[in-house]
Amino acid sequence: MADHDSRAGQHYGSTEVLRFVEDTHAPHDEALASTYAAPAQEGMPAIHVSRSEARFLEVLMRLIGARRIVEVGTLAGYSALRLARALPPEGRLWTLEKDPHHAAVARRQVDLAGFSDRVEVCLGDAIETLAALSEHGPFDAVFIDADKERYPDYGAWALGNLRPGGLLVADNAFLFGKLMDQTSSTAGAMRAFHRAVASRFESACVPTPDGMVIGIRR
Ligand code: SAH
Ligand code: MG
Repeated sequence: MADHDSRAGQHYGSTEVLRFVEDTHAPHDEALASTYAAPAQEGMPAIHVSRSEARFLEVLMRLIGARRIVEVGTLAGYSALRLARALPPEGRLWTLEKDPHHAAVARRQVDLAGFSDRVEVCLGDAIETLAALSEHGPFDAVFIDADKERYPDYGAWALGNLRPGGLLVADNAFLFGKLMDQTSSTAGAMRAFHRAVASRFESACVPTPDGMVIGIRR
């Protein structure tokens, strides 16, 4: 119970505390609630960001006045809805998903939330979709949350397609606790991603439960 412990990695976010701060800072409307519940209901992996992390994304996007956002990894659209809520009416979010079922559920949820004018769910492998998206750039923000071994590629794309001052955000930066595994090529890729972002962006790794990298494009 001391500052020293929290600096060393101790977390004070008990289930009760997390629930309180979620209810206080990140309340759900109907669309957010149904999208949050959709992965479990649709037989999809429930690997979306937490309520507080999603709201944090929205606040970051509001902070930079984001108008053009790219998300890599849609799932059911929960983080996408938070990103979209920060957009002005003429803003746009492209969210990339390779699984047709996930993309279909996300499109339904985006419709339900009334954001189909601002959000495009792009079906296909993200590497290919990103190459085609470049012509719509430069972008204000890129949120990376898909296949972890490809974070270095997604980071390189972000570097080339963000405006100066634009924001890179990447989830699961602790790789589910396996970041320091010296035998895993995915962990090696994630560490390489950290180093690349640190050397080319004004970056920080926020110690959320699974780590979230944020970086400003110089
Ligand atoms: N950002 C979402 C969660 C994304 S989960 C949220 O927090 O609400 C990761 C998603 O990335 C999965 O739906 C998975 O199908 C998708 N994905 C994985 N590899 C991909 C790739 N190469 N291209 C596009 N999507 C991919
Ligand atoms: Mg994630």
